Amino acid sequence: MSEETLAAIVEKPRTQAAIGSLRAEGIYDDDRSVYEASGDTVAIPVTETPVDTDVLEVVREEGEPRLRTLADHLRERGWSEDDIDDAPASWAVLGSVILVEMGDARDPAAVGEALLSMHGQADTVLAREGIDGEHRQPEVTVVAGEGDTETVHCEHGVEYAMDLADVMFSPGNKAERARMGEVVDEGERTLDMFAGIGYFTLPMARAGAQVTAIERNPDSFQYLLENTMRNGVSERVEPYRADNRDVLAAYEGDPFDRIVMGYYEAHEFLPDALSVLAPGGTVHMHEATPETLVPDRPVGRLEDAAAAVGREGDVRDVRRVKGYSEGVCHVVVDATVR
Ligand code: SAM
Repeated sequence: MSEETLAAIVEKPRTQAAIGSLRAEGIYDDDRSVYEASGDTVAIPVTETPVDTDVLEVVREEGEPRLRTLADHLRERGWSEDDIDDAPASWAVLGSVILVEMGDARDPAAVGEALLSMHGQADTVLAREGIDGEHRQPEVTVVAGEGDTETVHCEHGVEYAMDLADVMFSPGNKAERARMGEVVDEGERTLDMFAGIGYFTLPMARAGAQVTAIERNPDSFQYLLENTMRNGVSERVEPYRADNRDVLAAYEGDPFDRIVMGYYEAHEFLPDALSVLAPGGTVHMHEATPETLVPDRPVGRLEDAAAAVGREGDVRDVRRVKGYSEGVCHVVVDATVR
């Protein structure tokens, strides 16, 4: 027998505000999708009838009639099964923006329209073509919807404001963002050498760490500032818009308990990082590694860099964050350096 579920109906422009309020009430149902209920309204999945959130009505649904797949939507638009096979298998809903890699999809605009009808809280679909250069700027194209690429994405209680046309956001790093909020201790002195918009800085600061956050891309830095305020952690974050190598010398006599190096070329910065890491401090070094070189290459790089400055790197873990490209994965090495 199908289960009965509840959805709160709200006017479209109120979608994000209502989701935020329903989350605060603790009744937003993350496991189901928001969908378009009519031309002007959306249905937001809830676990109970809202008390503090203003909604038009609460409806009962039998089963999951709206939880249809992208394939269903494309079939309805007359697509052949072969064309459906070439459509994207996954995408990310980041606030009001859907981020998707189109691959060989026949008609990206039609895929975008279908995704919009599946995710009522979204108003823009962005096709991601790649990430470019040392500032990690995304190459994206609006394929459907209003084209507003600025959004606020909420994840594990952290709000990330960003413009997805200007800054990167890796949906696949979600578990790692959450983990960084779990590993820090209250009051711990932490350095985020490649802070971006606050991917790791925000969860760590919310967990009580004192974070020195360095980011040199001006667009990302602006969002880093906005996000520290938005998440109420400005007092625990010391932000620098700079090249991290220009900042660290000032901390040599005042080292950090933990250093996060969230950049695929992080190993090149190990000497700088170790010069400001306290004895027994922890490093989280990220790397894009060919599968055949996991874990030896990142572990060797860390141990060699420590040995080069007369220290000992004790690798605790090598974790797989996500696939990076064919045969290459994104790993993070956790190490204690004595
Ligand atoms: N940690 C992020 C995540 O999980 O998605 C990734 C951040 S992105 C890969 C790396 C960031 O480091 C970019 O925002 C880039 O501008 C910044 N960056 C690169 N080299 C830098 C340097 N030498 N000093 C400061 N920031 C740097």
